[in-house]
Amino acid sequence: MSWYSRKLADIPGIRHVFLDVHDSAVFDKSQMVDIKQVHGPEILHFTDTPLERPHVDGVVTSVSGQKVGVATADCLPLLMASGDGRVIASVHAGWRGTVQGVIERAVSAFAAQQIAAEDIVVAIGPHIRACCYEVSPSFYDGLLQGPGADAVREYRDRLFFSVPQQPTTKSARAQAADGQWFDLPAFCLIQLAQAGIASGNIEVLEKCTYCTPDELGSYRRRTHHPATKTQQISWIEKI
Ligand SMILES: [Zn+2]
Repeated sequence: MSWYSRKLADIPGIRHVFLDVHDSAVFDKSQMVDIKQVHGPEILHFTDTPLERPHVDGVVTSVSGQKVGVATADCLPLLMASGDGRVIASVHAGWRGTVQGVIERAVSAFAAQQIAAEDIVVAIGPHIRACCYEVSPSFYDGLLQGPGADAVREYRDRLFFSVPQQPTTKSARAQAADGQWFDLPAFCLIQLAQAGIASGNIEVLEKCTYCTPDELGSYRRRTHHPATKTQQISWIEKI
């Protein structure tokens, strides 16, 4: 099974998909711009195939007929498009890249193509949620090591919880007595808002990778329950 965003589907001239773990396994990744994701803030502006494989966590392009996408296994896959369908992007946003400003850089990459933030539509695919994302108390300090630090301080109460949020029978079991549960999508939504993206232009697929072993790969789940490495592919393309 795969998932689609209604907001992206409403934009003429583009197509996209968030593939589940099974469809991802048989997807030909050579159809996408080849990048090495490094949990950093860099965004590639794709115009032509680069000579070397770029180490970036997002790709923005206005080239037709070229898929751009990301592979994820708990981090957030963001697919983005201008409302007129002229510019598209894919972004891999985990906590490291987000705290370093990958979302802000993606929005800036649209600005470089004369697309204002309020004209950008964002769809967020499956990711680990606050039912399963237990972190140590010191994790908070790690979030203060980048340009996102002010938002982390300001919204700490919206990002961290003392108990899992809306757990299911398949959610991660608590690992530590002093664990906290981190809301990664909330962190990204705060960054999107600060970058000027309208909340009405954002669609979140509220599906937890850890809680959905039949459909999604989860890095965190594999650390608790060893299994073959799997991941999800999400892509977007101008027709
Ligand atoms: Zn979960």
